[in-house]
Amino acid sequence: MFEALSSRLNGVFDKLRRRGALSEADVNEALREVRIALLEADVALPVARDLINKVRERAVGAEVIRSVSPAQQVIKIVNDALVEALGGGEGGEAPDGFAPGLDLNAPAPLPILMVGLQGSGKTTTSGKIALRLRTRDKKKVLLASLDVQRPAAQLQLQTLAGQAGVTSLPIIPGQSPLEIAARAMDVARRELYDVVILDTAGRLSIDDALMEEVAAVKAATRPHHTLLVVDAMTGQDAVNTARNFQDRVGVNGIVMTRVDGDARGGAALSMRAVTGAPIRLLGAGEKLDALEDFHPSRIAGRILGMGDIVSLVERAAETIDRDEAEKLAAKMQKGQFDLEDFASQLKQVGKMGNLSGILGMLPGMGAMKDKIANAKIDDGMIGRQAAIISSMTRKERKNPDIIKASRKKRIAAGAGVTVQDVNRLLKQFDDMSAMMKRMNKLGQKGLMRGGLG
Ligand code: GDP
Repeated sequence: MFEALSSRLNGVFDKLRRRGALSEADVNEALREVRIALLEADVALPVARDLINKVRERAVGAEVIRSVSPAQQVIKIVNDALVEALGGGEGGEAPDGFAPGLDLNAPAPLPILMVGLQGSGKTTTSGKIALRLRTRDKKKVLLASLDVQRPAAQLQLQTLAGQAGVTSLPIIPGQSPLEIAARAMDVARRELYDVVILDTAGRLSIDDALMEEVAAVKAATRPHHTLLVVDAMTGQDAVNTARNFQDRVGVNGIVMTRVDGDARGGAALSMRAVTGAPIRLLGAGEKLDALEDFHPSRIAGRILGMGDIVSLVERAAETIDRDEAEKLAAKMQKGQFDLEDFASQLKQVGKMGNLSGILGMLPGMGAMKDKIANAKIDDGMIGRQAAIISSMTRKERKNPDIIKASRKKRIAAGAGVTVQDVNRLLKQFDDMSAMMKRMNKLGQKGLMRGGLG
């Protein structure tokens, strides 16, 4: 998401930077281009207009034009306006009482009502929230599906609950959504659950029956969070859906899913202005751990190509297994690194999720997107390399030297790749081992010097 917008804006700012001193005309020209970039990214027209007006008001002041780095100033002003549009407060500060993610400050059992169209990712997101509440917030979570339209829906939620390690409400055929909701709250009170996630039925499009059903459940359960799940890929349609749900049900938070796809991102920028509700969470993949808090300032940073180091570090800390990493480090130091360790390292990278997503979070990488594509660092590569290593025997992994032509053929066939792919992986492993040996020698010399000195 946001790649196109990000590179357009960077083009505009590059031009500004080359100018040095800025005239009012320079700023206006830049803002015209920013406006086009926003509209191309599918930002709703009134929202784009608002944002530009705000920036112009602040930028055309004599202060900016006389300042030492006018371009930087303009970028800062655009950044702040983006943060505000994304739901942050004035000057990029959080507005009163808003914290990213979910607010869990309410008496247990705290109900969370999930609403949205069918296929938006509602059920998956329920599972993601459950997993995060259990593992990160140490909450006892009950999941319940109120979808009586599709018999498979209740089973789907049950499966997801299993994957998330939380309980799902036993299915009683024939109950209405209201009855299920009441039973869920009842069980939660008696069995001391902290949070109850109620996943409502979706429809393919907005219809009255759906809205009435959801509104009735909301009135009966008085949820702390009523979260609307929208698919970022549907662009302006997502914004219209949100407006409808806001008018007819009332939501107090939005979850935007499929931000891992190539959505243009404009919907995210329009959501707050159109619905008044903040985006709270982002769904960035099909796996249950692909859930991120929505931080307006970090997202603005991503859009402006300044990278999102904080999210990256958070993700790394959550997914990388520290023991595993320490074990690897020790082996590397002793020069005992073999292909099994290489595979485990690949797995760690894989766990961090989509590789191009990770690179996109690094500062400066936004602009390097094309180069990255040329270097063929694609996500499939990690999967292929892992497949190659897993079709080797244990002996081969421990002694890669024994892998000659016939073994290579067998390994390639097993992994569904070519012999060249196998060669490439072995070469990479060799390079890495050689580098480690060099580093070790240097390290030991360094130690000795340290010891003697
Ligand atoms: P529901 O009908 O709203 O409950 O939608 P589901 O939860 O069943 O999701 C529909 C499809 O979207 C499933 O295949 C999910 O795996 C997929 N999905 C959900 N969230 C995301 C996301 O953030 N990214 C991607 N790529 N896929 C998602």
